[in-house]
Amino acid sequence: MRIGGTRIGLTLLVVLPLLISAIGMFWSTSYVLNGISVSVNKQEEERAWQAVKSAMNAAQSRLAGTVADNARWDDAVTHTYGTPNQEWIKDTWGDFTDSINYNAAFVVAPDGKTIAAYANRKPVDLSAQQYLGPQLQKILRELTNVQSGFSTRTTLAATPLGFAIVSAGPILPTSDDVQQPSRRANVLIYGQTLSVQKLREISSQYAVDNLVALPAAAANVPNARVLTDAWGNPAFSAVWRNRTPGDAAKRVYKWTAATLIAFLLAAMLPVSIVHFLALRRLDQKEQQAHRDARLDAMSSLPNRISLLEELAEKLQSSSSGELALLFIDLDGFKAVNDAYDHATGDKLIAAFAAGLRVIADKGEVLSRLGGDEFAILVAAPSAASRAQQLAEGVLKFVHDPFDINGRTAAIGASIGIAELGSETVTPAEIMRRADIAMYEAKENGRNQWRQFDPELDRKRSDDFQIAREMREYIARGEFGIAYQPIISASDRKIVGVEALARWPARSSRRLEPGQFVPVAEEHGLIRELGALIFDMACRDISTWPHMRLSINVSAAQLTSSAFVQELKQISEKHDISPRRIEVEFTEAVLKLNARRTKNAIKELHAEGFTVALDDFGTGHASVYYLQDFAFDRIKLDRSMTRNVAFSPETQKVVQGTILIAQGLSADIVAEGIETEEDAKIMRLAGCHQMQGYYFGRPQSFETLRLLVPARKIRGASSA
Ligand code: C2E
Ligand code: MG
Ligand code: MG
Repeated sequence: MRIGGTRIGLTLLVVLPLLISAIGMFWSTSYVLNGISVSVNKQEEERAWQAVKSAMNAAQSRLAGTVADNARWDDAVTHTYGTPNQEWIKDTWGDFTDSINYNAAFVVAPDGKTIAAYANRKPVDLSAQQYLGPQLQKILRELTNVQSGFSTRTTLAATPLGFAIVSAGPILPTSDDVQQPSRRANVLIYGQTLSVQKLREISSQYAVDNLVALPAAAANVPNARVLTDAWGNPAFSAVWRNRTPGDAAKRVYKWTAATLIAFLLAAMLPVSIVHFLALRRLDQKEQQAHRDARLDAMSSLPNRISLLEELAEKLQSSSSGELALLFIDLDGFKAVNDAYDHATGDKLIAAFAAGLRVIADKGEVLSRLGGDEFAILVAAPSAASRAQQLAEGVLKFVHDPFDINGRTAAIGASIGIAELGSETVTPAEIMRRADIAMYEAKENGRNQWRQFDPELDRKRSDDFQIAREMREYIARGEFGIAYQPIISASDRKIVGVEALARWPARSSRRLEPGQFVPVAEEHGLIRELGALIFDMACRDISTWPHMRLSINVSAAQLTSSAFVQELKQISEKHDISPRRIEVEFTEAVLKLNARRTKNAIKELHAEGFTVALDDFGTGHASVYYLQDFAFDRIKLDRSMTRNVAFSPETQKVVQGTILIAQGLSADIVAEGIETEEDAKIMRLAGCHQMQGYYFGRPQSFETLRLLVPARKIRGASSA
């Protein structure tokens, strides 16, 4: 879905700008063209209007000239005043009323009475008053006063004969031969009707198309322009068909512009395509990066980020009991990495991931969280039981050693399971619970699965409390310490003491080393605790000449490269020879980091310390350790002492161990001697030294020193 969306987005990203610029160019070009076209059309309309007015003016001045020629004439005076000579009027003016210049002629007395009226060569029963209406009085007022001299008045008029150009002049003599008979003059009026023919002539002459005259009242006809008479009143309207040169130009240029824009877009297209391809490549890379960011390369499994996303998604759609998360941590992976090389370790990770793929069903989400940690997310009804099934499957899968290019890698798996309960939890919380359960599996001896329960949380917060308290005691150098004597089997003389850490007595609680030592290991306090105990023990033992001191050391202490130097410094500080110090560590230490332990033993020997293998016989440790690591002493675990009397198996192990130890010239110490019988059996079996409640419980240094004034301890005396 995301991919499709991005494609569409990308396409839009490229197509949209093109589309927008195309539309923009078209729009702006049209806008400009329209503007030009409208303005050109307006100019043309204005020109036509001016032409119509010019045509009217020209016709009026022509008619005015004709009137002037006929009215200012001695003969006209002679024949129109007094009793008008109708004959003369007809011959002179009436018969010419079809001429090109005028088609109506009137002779009017100063009082407005029509003396003669002709139209189209015929006398008409039409008075000048009827012809001109109110305009007649205005003309007479202007022209009849003889004193004013000669002038003409031309106007436009709407007459019963049609819209017309009208011109009038007073009939006055030109010479002194004829006397003007009265003070008020008769008036000659010519009218020229704007016939269709006449208008057509004007149209062609003045380049105004389809010129038509309409009543002034028709001024609301589109494009109608009102023509006024001589006194500024509307006479009639002129209407013509406007030429639209702008439109024509627009049509032409529109196509030119369209072609140009098309060319421009065509030129831009390759650029856009290149742009599109570049963007698409970038997008593909981005998607690849997104996938890569969620994939673990070594195992080809989704990584932690991916798991968190899946978890968040599935948590939303799951209800109580429908989701479970497994955390798997490989036991002994580090040892494989150390024993061989990292390439082998990498292949082991890949092989384990391949196994997970076979074990898990489709729809169960696998993930590598990093290092040797994996996860399986189950979203199904009764997810917890399916998760347990998967855990069993994983344990079975890792049971047999892996064969990596001919190298044998034996690992185990500690698995934590967290189930979705009825309360809402965050992905981080589910992961935390699975992690805690996994740690619990590890602490309980590894190679097993544990399901989270709130009790683990309580234990964890308890552990935090213990760690906090312990940190304070260590800082103040206030820790308890007890010493347990180690006895020579042959003469039962005390040959050494083992220093055992004790929870400070002033604390409100009582904790066994079995409780606080693991906490110290887990919370990073074991090195400081070890150093403190060693320092205190050295101080005590420095007052006891020649006495050997055994101290216990955890795996985490060995991983520090400064460990041996630290021991050396402390023993030097108390002026104790390293030969009097014995370092004990368990099989678990060897198993965790064999190579490091081997090096540490070498370093310890180089400085003069001796080394003992503690609790031998509890784990699966084999004789292999005895040969491979140069131990000075082997301490048989007290479980062997307890069983040796009645278990032939144990007897065999004890005897075998003693034989090998003799071969390696290592001493054997029997732990957990509680009775005289235990002591006898172990001495007969060949143990060199013994330790146990029978000879002395762990006790304070002072008590121990008081108890052994003779440096001899009998079982009865200490019991
Ligand atoms: P460990 O080194 O094997 O110490 C011997 C343990 O056996 C001591 O338990 C001791 O009290 C117990 N024990 C001795 N004789 C007998 C006996 O006859 N019968 C029985 N039932 N038990 C006997 P403790 O003191 O509880 O120590 C437990 C473990 O804690 C030690 O086992 C050691 O591994 C660890 N530990 C003690 N102190 C330290 C320390 O300072 N540093 C480190 N790293 N570990 C320590
Ligand atoms: Mg010990
Ligand atoms: Mg022990």
